[in-house]
Amino acid sequence: MYGAKLKGRNALNEFNIYEESQEIKRNQLHDDILTAADHHQFELYYQPKVNMRTHEILGVEALIRWNHPEKGLIMPNDFLPFISNHPLEIHIGQWVIETAIKQMSHWIDQDHPIGISVNIAGYHLQSSGFMDNLLETFRRYPNVPYNLLELEILETSAIDDLHQVDSILSECKMIGVKISLDDFGTGYSSLSHLKKLTVDTLKIDQTFVRNMLEDENDLAILTGVIGFANAFKRNVIAEGVETRAHMENLIELGCDWGQGYFIARPMPAKKLQEWMTQWRLNPILSAVTH
Ligand code: C2E
Ligand code: MG
Ligand code: MG
Ligand code: MG
Repeated sequence: MYGAKLKGRNALNEFNIYEESQEIKRNQLHDDILTAADHHQFELYYQPKVNMRTHEILGVEALIRWNHPEKGLIMPNDFLPFISNHPLEIHIGQWVIETAIKQMSHWIDQDHPIGISVNIAGYHLQSSGFMDNLLETFRRYPNVPYNLLELEILETSAIDDLHQVDSILSECKMIGVKISLDDFGTGYSSLSHLKKLTVDTLKIDQTFVRNMLEDENDLAILTGVIGFANAFKRNVIAEGVETRAHMENLIELGCDWGQGYFIARPMPAKKLQEWMTQWRLNPILSAVTH
């Protein structure tokens, strides 16, 4: 009996120590992220989105990378979760928006207008001042039209507070900024909620694409989402197109837009021009017949 008690106490202590060490780690990471932002260690990579049937380049998605002086390239899933729902998430999110708009301004100056979509955390989207900051950033780059920017919102965060999120999305839509629902199919939005949401595009989560050829259920979900998008006059794009078979089957199902390693990996801005020239000369898709 004593044993059990002792064990219980120890477990509690261990739990506290674990919690404490997590807290210290988190604070350290927060400091590191602030320093990294000050020292320009963040960079946006860009991954093209294309019409797989016509080969038209639709735009690019901005994906954050952390060039850590000692640890090398750190991927977003290894640091963004630690700033979730924290003011730092807004700080980084604003940097992402500013950097993307500045990049578009630069491309427009070079006569290459390319639209960029940025991933926006629900916490950032719903923070006060989101719209004012967005408008202020656009004011600083007056050559960039609003409709070149797209916001990617996770399906899961869009349904967090449907009413509030939708009113912000409506404001964005009013000025022409595009909206897409990211990782679509992984959330639990009901069709009636979705019907009300002001979104232009559904981005089908890559897990469904990955297994579409082996898993009948995933194929059924894909087919359903594509049908739903068509019925509600939304665009639909597939993430995670890794093989020619993925691409061909998606086109067959009526999903022409795609993004994935088979088309292009995310790359630094300076590589994008070269990729576009190459793609226009000889898209890997040119062998596909219809
Ligand atoms: P996401 O927005 O769904 O982005 C797609 C992720 O899948 C990216 O990972 C991309 O590199 C990867 N990907 C693209 N094509 C393929 C493919 O064919 N196969 C596979 N297996 N993966 C592919 P990444 O860059 O590591 O980003 C992960 C997630 O982190 C993103 O998912 C997004 O939710 C978040 N994220 C990235 N950048 C930002 C940002 O600037 N702000 C915010 N708030 N979140 C970001
Ligand atoms: Mg995304
Ligand atoms: Mg996604
Ligand atoms: Mg994702």
